[in-house]
Amino acid sequence: MSTQTRTVLARSRTIERQVAGMPTSDGAGVRLTRVLTQPLQRRLDPFLMLDAFRSDRPEDYIAGFPPHPHRGFETITYMIAGRMRHRDSTGGEGLLESGAVQWMTAARGIIHSEMPEQEDGLMEGFQLWLNLPARTKMQPAAYRDIPRSEIPELSLEDGVRVRVIAGASHGLGGAVERPDTEPLLLDIHLPAGAAFLQPIPPTHNAIVYVYRGEVSIAGETVPDARMAILANDANADGVALTARSDARVLLVAGRPLDEAIAQYGPFVMNTQAELEQAMADYRDGTLAD
Ligand code: MN
Repeated sequence: MSTQTRTVLARSRTIERQVAGMPTSDGAGVRLTRVLTQPLQRRLDPFLMLDAFRSDRPEDYIAGFPPHPHRGFETITYMIAGRMRHRDSTGGEGLLESGAVQWMTAARGIIHSEMPEQEDGLMEGFQLWLNLPARTKMQPAAYRDIPRSEIPELSLEDGVRVRVIAGASHGLGGAVERPDTEPLLLDIHLPAGAAFLQPIPPTHNAIVYVYRGEVSIAGETVPDARMAILANDANADGVALTARSDARVLLVAGRPLDEAIAQYGPFVMNTQAELEQAMADYRDGTLAD
């Protein structure tokens, strides 16, 4: 759709630092890049993790993620290319295809698997972990598949297209809204030379991840496969991106929870005692009851 809403900014945020991420493997041996790692959790509160995966070598992804637990947060999986089958302990099941999002609220507990449903070709996408406030960490688990057709899309001037997965952009509300952390998750496609503006409250933490081409933010270039952490500046009311070549980027922002973060693998709680309880519940088979 097109929009008449005009967005202007007084001043764009600058880049605080750029992060290339750590090559790692997870699940049964899926190769990925952990872009938002544990040492950045406080800085990027309420976001706990961002993994990027992009490979056309089946041996990098074919083993998938066999059943494993989560407690205390939400996982957002966004597929750029490929097909993954999801099954979980709430009875949820879905096929996640190119352009689709899966928004899983692990909350008090879920056990799920994510397995490739392809034997060759490109598998590309992201998984973002979004924290829950202490008072909702032990609510029932929930799971939602959002097919490509249900993600609102903006067409702006200069051929810029924006898929609004969460939050709102240029007057268009996204597929998901969350009151506690107000997450913004945009997939922005920019032709070379085009610009895009997005208001962001100065107190919200924000990152840009480039996954095609390169963009410029406040005069600094961000290349492919790189995350830029945007500085929190009380005088900056958003971010301005300019594409230096045809580019695609994720823009992620959210309101910090400012609560203690305790993580052990797939469990993210507020205290060590709550982590021990999560491990005991998993051992006893009651985590996902
Ligand atoms: Mn998982």
